[in-house]
Amino acid sequence: MSAFVIDLDQFAENLAEVRRRSAPATHMLVVKDDAYAHGLVPIVTRAWAEGVRWFGAFDVRTGIATRKALGEHARIFVWLVSGRDEATAAVAANLDIGVGNAALLEDVAAAAGDATKAARVHLKIDTGLHRNGIRPEEWPAVVDRARGLESRGEVEVVGVWSHIGEASDADDDIARAEFEAAVARARTAGLTPRFLHLAASAAAFARPEFRYDLTRIGAFAYGIRPAGGPSEDELGISPIASLTATVTSVDDQAVRVNLGSLDGLPTALQNRMLVATPAGLRTVTEISATWLSIRAWPGVRIGDAVTVFGGVDAPSATDAAEQLGTIGEEIVLRVSPLVTRTYR
Ligand SMILES: *Cc1c(COP(=O)(O)O)cnc(C)c1O
Repeated sequence: MSAFVIDLDQFAENLAEVRRRSAPATHMLVVKDDAYAHGLVPIVTRAWAEGVRWFGAFDVRTGIATRKALGEHARIFVWLVSGRDEATAAVAANLDIGVGNAALLEDVAAAAGDATKAARVHLKIDTGLHRNGIRPEEWPAVVDRARGLESRGEVEVVGVWSHIGEASDADDDIARAEFEAAVARARTAGLTPRFLHLAASAAAFARPEFRYDLTRIGAFAYGIRPAGGPSEDELGISPIASLTATVTSVDDQAVRVNLGSLDGLPTALQNRMLVATPAGLRTVTEISATWLSIRAWPGVRIGDAVTVFGGVDAPSATDAAEQLGTIGEEIVLRVSPLVTRTYR
């Protein structure tokens, strides 16, 4: 048996630290990918109780699920919206819509026209990541068009935003200058965006000038520290989830721990990952989709508990990720939805 155990009180402590480090900006809790695999509804419900009022849902489906869980007063931002049908659903659910291209602006305006209410739009400038976002050369035409749609009552441009790499301060500085220029041009067009937002976890904590009005923070709220970056202690956060499993078979050499179901851990972690056992930290010698092996320890019994990552005893998901040159989210997000989430 395995379980993904989520400590909601630790989550509340992380949220308090995130809020403190985001000030004077407001924290938008990012909840994409089922709240980074921690389970959307329990996470947004506790966050709401702790005073979080902005949620970054990513896609419309998650936005609607968050709306259902929290009711009409939550501000819910989605930025993966494609086509007229999704725009219609986003407007109907009263979501704040991130718009990263001119075609979507038209879809949102048309959907709002049908619904006879203005859609709240946050225009996204591409500041160099080239993922999605309005290119600087297109920006003047798009903000002018948005102003026109605003005067017709179809959209209300409440925000301007972008996403940055957070890999080098120099690149981030260039992106921020691009962002500032885009905001100035939007104001020249007559727009009055109330919410400017640029930073995710790393930049929000390290660089006050990146905070603006909203910080879009996921990872640090869940206690996932950046690979190769500052420690949890330095950040003032702790992982809120631990993956636990029990010993299901024992022979002279090896103990097998059942992970329950699919996805599991990357096999590349074989011989490179430590887990917490009743006999202390031990190396994982073999990984399959549903179980892992550990060298046996004296007195081992079926049913002994093993912490695979997280919690007080075991290394964190980011510790494991660093062995592979990846990030903690990649380990956490592999915990199958079929593994029971338990909350305490
Ligand atoms: C995932 C995401 C975030 C949150 O990033 P973290 O590093 O987890 O805090 C913020 N903004 C956007 C656009 C994202 O996709």
